[in-house]
Amino acid sequence: MTTQRDLARQHLVPHFTGKRTWYEDDFPVFERGEGCYLFDTDGNRWLDGVAGLFCVNIGHGRTDLASVAAEQMGRLAYSSNWGMAHPAAIEAATMIAEVAPGDIDQIFFVSSGSEAVESAVKFARNYHLARGDDSRYKVISRNWAYHGTTLGALAVTGIPKNREPFLPNLWDGVRHVSNTGQCTSPKGTPADELSCVKAIEEVILTEGPETVAMVIAEPVQSGGGALVPPNGYWSALRRLCDRHGVLLCADEVVCAFGRFGHWFASERFDVVPDMITFAKGVTSAYQPLGGLAIRRPLVAEVYESPIGTFRHGSTFGGHPVATAVAVANMRAMREEGLFDHVLSTEDHFAQSLGSLAESHRSIREIRGAGFFYAIDLCVDRETRLDLSPTQEIGLQSGVLGGFIREARTTVRPDGRGYTGLNISPPLIADAEVIEDLTHRIDQILDRVDSWLDEND
Ligand code: PLP
Repeated sequence: MTTQRDLARQHLVPHFTGKRTWYEDDFPVFERGEGCYLFDTDGNRWLDGVAGLFCVNIGHGRTDLASVAAEQMGRLAYSSNWGMAHPAAIEAATMIAEVAPGDIDQIFFVSSGSEAVESAVKFARNYHLARGDDSRYKVISRNWAYHGTTLGALAVTGIPKNREPFLPNLWDGVRHVSNTGQCTSPKGTPADELSCVKAIEEVILTEGPETVAMVIAEPVQSGGGALVPPNGYWSALRRLCDRHGVLLCADEVVCAFGRFGHWFASERFDVVPDMITFAKGVTSAYQPLGGLAIRRPLVAEVYESPIGTFRHGSTFGGHPVATAVAVANMRAMREEGLFDHVLSTEDHFAQSLGSLAESHRSIREIRGAGFFYAIDLCVDRETRLDLSPTQEIGLQSGVLGGFIREARTTVRPDGRGYTGLNISPPLIADAEVIEDLTHRIDQILDRVDSWLDEND
């Protein structure tokens, strides 16, 4: 009998998936979701440890969101935001404007996180041109940062293995600097003096501030493994960008809509960036939607300039169905107290994961905050023995993924600047789900410990 998996192998080209995983492993085919759990076509129940791809924030199986989508399709399936508007996009933009930090209240919709990043790069250029600052176009981004896959967003991305094959296609205006995990300053260093802050200023000065358009960074960087910034880092970035007339963009494609207990994680780090990119959680992935939220005075400057336009757009940006679902999702998040739940549960979550360190020598560090964690692996925590290059390659190229599948969870194996696990469940996970998740991760780490014994 031809299975769904066989048909997938025949016709479906997977994203970022190696030939071996696709043709030799029993990858899951998920057919249903409920709360924090997914069900595959073989009848297995999986714990969704990364909320789809850091996006199903409100959990699976919300038929209320499905009804909103159906109702919107019946009433107005499509209208654009090009010289016209429709109530769903207007309401979604208004709601986001109300909860965005500071004077950020201008919302430009697209359909994905990559497009949101592209929009930020283009808005920064458009803004500087509007001010007559024609030479500003460069972007500063951080090592190991994932900002997307389209060519503009990929240029900004700092993951060598994703970028290098496409270098001839990427524009050369991006400079990568240390991320907060690569900071070499001792604890207690004032934020403005941190090596990872000074690295940005050094690049701005070397390139010439008059050529730099924008700095982009995630509030908590995913690549490198849930890198929570040192105290004061974001305020220092704000001061630095202001000093040099450079726009500051927080890429909150993962961080926004509750992952750190706030609408935007910038709020948690007490910063008002010039722009925020968002996607994923804005609809809890019930529809594809992304966007760029911009400080009002910046958009005003563009409109009042001779340029007068943000010269950018797309057919599906701000689609009626996607924006209607965003409104319903945000309303449910608010009414159901989802962010209070994250804030009141995060300590328990961190402790539960932390309890694993005692029984697994392969845990170097557990990092993160909110509902977003990484487990960084090594050979032996006590002796600080790093994984050998062979062990890293082995774990990253299928072994870790296999152990994760055995435990029937979707936590992600990660090889972006460290070897380990990415953990980021739906924000509705309660104590019982966290216990289940911790138990499954314990199982994965048992397998890692034994594998390291056999492959030292
Ligand atoms: N920016 C960040 C921080 C991301 O994590 C991602 C995707 O994971 C993107 C941008 C790209 O988003 P998308 O996959 O929707 O294009």
